This record gives sequence, C-alpha cells and structure tokens, in this order.
Amino acid sequence: MRTTADLTALALGALERLGVDPARTTPLDDPSAGRPGDAAHGLVARSPITGGALCGVRVDDADAVAAAVAAASDAFVAWRETPAPQRGAVVKRLGELLTEHKEDLAALVTIEAGKIHTEALGEVQEMIDICDFAVGLSRQLYGRTMPSERAGHRLQETWQPLGVVGVISAFNFPVAVWSWNTAIALVCGDPVVWKPSELTTLCALGCDALLQRALREHDAPAGLHAVVLGERAVGEALVDDPRVALVSATGSTRMGREVGPRVASRFGRCLLELGGNNAVIVTPSADLDQAVSSVVFGAAGTAGQRCTSTRRLLVHASVADEVVGRVARGFDSLPAGDPFDDGVLLGPLIHDAAFDAMQAALDRARAQGGEVVTGGERIVPGDQPDADADAEAEAETGADAGGVWVRPALVRLPAQDGVMLAETFAPILYVVTYEDFDEALALHNAVPQGLSGGLFSNDVREAERYLGASGADTGIANVNAGTSGAEIGGAFGGEKETGGGRESGSDAWRAYMRRATNTINFSGSVQLAQGVDFG
Ligand code: NAD
Repeated sequence: MRTTADLTALALGALERLGVDPARTTPLDDPSAGRPGDAAHGLVARSPITGGALCGVRVDDADAVAAAVAAASDAFVAWRETPAPQRGAVVKRLGELLTEHKEDLAALVTIEAGKIHTEALGEVQEMIDICDFAVGLSRQLYGRTMPSERAGHRLQETWQPLGVVGVISAFNFPVAVWSWNTAIALVCGDPVVWKPSELTTLCALGCDALLQRALREHDAPAGLHAVVLGERAVGEALVDDPRVALVSATGSTRMGREVGPRVASRFGRCLLELGGNNAVIVTPSADLDQAVSSVVFGAAGTAGQRCTSTRRLLVHASVADEVVGRVARGFDSLPAGDPFDDGVLLGPLIHDAAFDAMQAALDRARAQGGEVVTGGERIVPGDQPDADADAEAEAETGADAGGVWVRPALVRLPAQDGVMLAETFAPILYVVTYEDFDEALALHNAVPQGLSGGLFSNDVREAERYLGASGADTGIANVNAGTSGAEIGGAFGGEKETGGGRESGSDAWRAYMRRATNTINFSGSVQLAQGVDFG
C-alpha cells in the first residue's frame, strides 16, 4: 500500500509534467504557508487512499471568480467570430495532449478520487473520445431549413455561440465531466469558467494546464478558460454572475435544488446532472451470467460512487435466490486494496463521512425489516498500510492517516420503500422481488430520481416494453447491459430529480448554443404569415 509520502511524490511529479504552475500549490512543510487548514493553504488536497494531506492549494474568492468571468466575457467577443473548425483545432490539440499525458492525469484521478487505475485511465480515455467527437462536431453545427408558407421566402434556423459557460463538477468524475462540457462548449464558441469539486483540485489544475497549453499554441484569446478553486461559496459566485449564460452543474440533487432556482431567478440557462438511484430488472428469461457480472460491476465499481451505480435490484421471485447468492459471492470476492495495484477492483470511499452515511443507511434498512445478506463492514485491505510510514506522515502533516474501504453491501428488503428511495453515495445494493413484469416496471420508475436503468431479459416483448412510452422513465435505459459505463456518443443525463440535463454526445451541443429562427424575404413584396391583410 502506498503511503501519503509516496502519493505526494507521485502527485507533484504528475503536476510538474502536466505543466501546472507551482504557485497554485503550497508544500505542507512551507513555514510561510502555515499548517494545513490555515488561510494561506486554502484547501488541502488529500488522498482517500491514506486519508493523508498531499499539499495546500491556493483558493479563489468571489473577486477572482468575477475577474475570471470578465476575462471570459472579453474572450467570447473574439472566440464567437473564430470559425468553428478553427475552434475545433484547439480541441484537437487538447485531445493530443491528453493522449500524451494520459498516465499523469489518471494518476491524479486515482490519488484524489481513489478510483482503481484502470477506471482512472478509462476516465481520461473518455476525455480523449469527447475531444474527437467535438472536433468532428465543429464542422457539423447544423441548422435546419424549413419550407416557408410564403412565396419568395426562406425559413431557417442558425446556431450561434451562447456566451460564458460555468461548469461545476463533482468529485467522482473529476476530469471527464469537465471535458464533456468544455470540449463541446469550446467548439460551440463559448468560453468556460470551471469550479471543480473541492476534493479534486489537483485533477482540475492538471486539466487546466493542458488546455492552456493548447490555447497558447493556437493563439486563442486569453481568458477563454479558467479554473476557480474553492468550496461552495466559489460555486455560488459563479452561479449568480449574470454574465454566465449557462451553468452546467454536476453533483448531488441537494446542490441542484440550490443552483437551479438561483440561475432561473436571473433567467440564465441551467444544465443539471444530479443524483441517480438506478435499477436493474432481472427477468426469468435473462442470461444470469451476464446479469450477475453487470450488477456486480454496476453496484461495486468505483466503490458505488458513480451517479450511474446500480443501487436497486428488482429480480423475479423465481430466480431471486440464485441471483442474490451469486451477487453476494461476487461482492465477497472482490479484491480490495491500493487502487494503483493490478488486480485490485475495490478502492476506498472518498472520506469518513461517506462511510458514516453508508452505516446510517444500513441501520435504516434494518429498521425497515431488511436483511443484510453480505457486506457493509469496514475492511482492511490484505496488503496492510505501512503503519510506521503512516504514523510518520501523520506527524509530518497533522493529517489523519487511514483510507476507508468497505465490503459492498447486499440488502434484501421486504418492499421498495424508505431508504431505498434515496441515493446513498456508497456501495449498497437493495434487492426486492417481483411477480409480474408490470410490477417490475412500476417499481423501476417509483423513485424520485431518473438517471439510468437496465433490463436483463431475452424476451423481446419485455425489452420493447421496457424501452417504450410506458417503460423506463430514465434518461438512460439499457437492455442486457448494466446501469453504468456510458459511452460519449450518446446524450448523457436523466429525468426527475436527476435534473433533466443532457451533455456529451448526440445533439447535447445545442444546450451550449443560441438558436435563431431566420426568415429571409426575397419576394420583393410584403407578405404576412397566416394570410393576415394589414392594408
Ligand atoms: P456535491 O453536490 O456535494 O458537490 C458537487 C459540486 O457542487 C462541488 O463542486 C461543490 O463545491 C458544488 N456545490 C455544492 N453546493 C453548491 C451550491 N449551493 N452552489 C454552487 N456550487 C455548489 O456532490 P459530490 O459529493 O461532489 O458528488 C456526488 C454527487 O454527484 C452524487 O449525488 C452523484 O450522483 C452526483 N453526480 C451526478 C452525475 C450526473 O451526471 N448525473 C455525475 C457525477 C456525480
């Protein structure tokens, strides 16, 4: 198991190679910066692998946010006039730099978010993929031409750059969510000001450094991208700034409830990507091998800390015991440990509070008559942390050492109620059984969230019903595929308390542009629509 000192060295090396300005961070032993938590340090970057502090990170205040938005607004004036394929060339360069620095950025993701390394590499790959997509898109920002009802008239729509985009992102996808927004916003002609999670600031500095390099190489206007670091207040300053045309906010439903009305009160645009509570239905005709392995990955992958994590298993009574037994064995056999190590599939939770929230949810489940079939307990990974080194790190940094690993919990509930209706951001999979398919569909949709769902069935009628108008009410609905692991080509997002936003592929780019409907009269006379005669 790596120590805090190892992780600090890895992180600082990656930041240097990514080209991050050393002034953005402060070493913890810098006497002029004081102790972790002092004002000069601002935020302290930590790793959930050891719980230890890595370095201080200088934060921004409301004035700095206003200055970043002002610079972005100035940049917009030139950027919106830059031909879209030229804007795409900058994003192409970003994709090349991401490819070159994939390992460094993935290391930061593993260090700060605790993701196993293959998932961290996958997250950076997603960034490269969205850059490719955006480059192609830069030649395809199509508008439609419609037949006019008037002779000698042409009716068309055009898509124009919108303005400054404020991106707010969560800890669990610390780099990909930024790229989904930024690659698309840039080709659409919009500058970006990014407020990342306070838990993953080093990842954000790494992304910003690569993009700044691409922008400089292409002589793009200064101020086209900025990262502003801090806690909620920094996000609020961005949300309330009337020069921010679109706020794209990813995080908890609690955050969306605060951000949505604030942006609406100034008639700004909002794209919300909020919490999920995703179900898999397993029917009697399902291929159980496929279903079980998808459910184990969906529920336990990223230690249950994905918005698309599988949290509810709705299984037909006839196959329930077999499916529950096999998923439990899957959970029990997942190798836990240092997320950098090959073969490890279970990394740590993000912090102690996530563990406490998980225990509170399990207590509620028990109080509802639930049976914890397996898991829920804190585990110490096989390869024990080096106690001496951690004690040393603790003495050096004043930080609490010790990451939090948990065995994913599988809980049978008598009914879908109470705790099962809420998203707990930890690996808990609730199971209820059903008797007929209508009941399964009703259960699938009877939660406040609407992000992702999956049906395992070899019955074409069930599959078509699941995807139909009375089927899954989620933004993502899969057949014989689990709830998590979306591709960038489709539009990503969900309904109800998930917020309704769509980002990434398909036509999600339209949220980042202003649509204008144009009528061009080449008839030589005035003709009013609907045959109106005005003298
Ligand atoms: P969070 O809501 O605590 O924080 C997300 C971001 O919002 C952070 O940058 C935070 O500083 C900022 N923030 C919080 N309150 C704010 C406010 N009032 N005004 C402005 N900014 C504010 O979420 P988290 O714990 O980092 O992430 C986990 C949550 O995010 C889960 O609910 C998960 O489902 C959700 N999530 C959703 C998606 C999606 O695409 N739907 C993707 C990833 C994560």
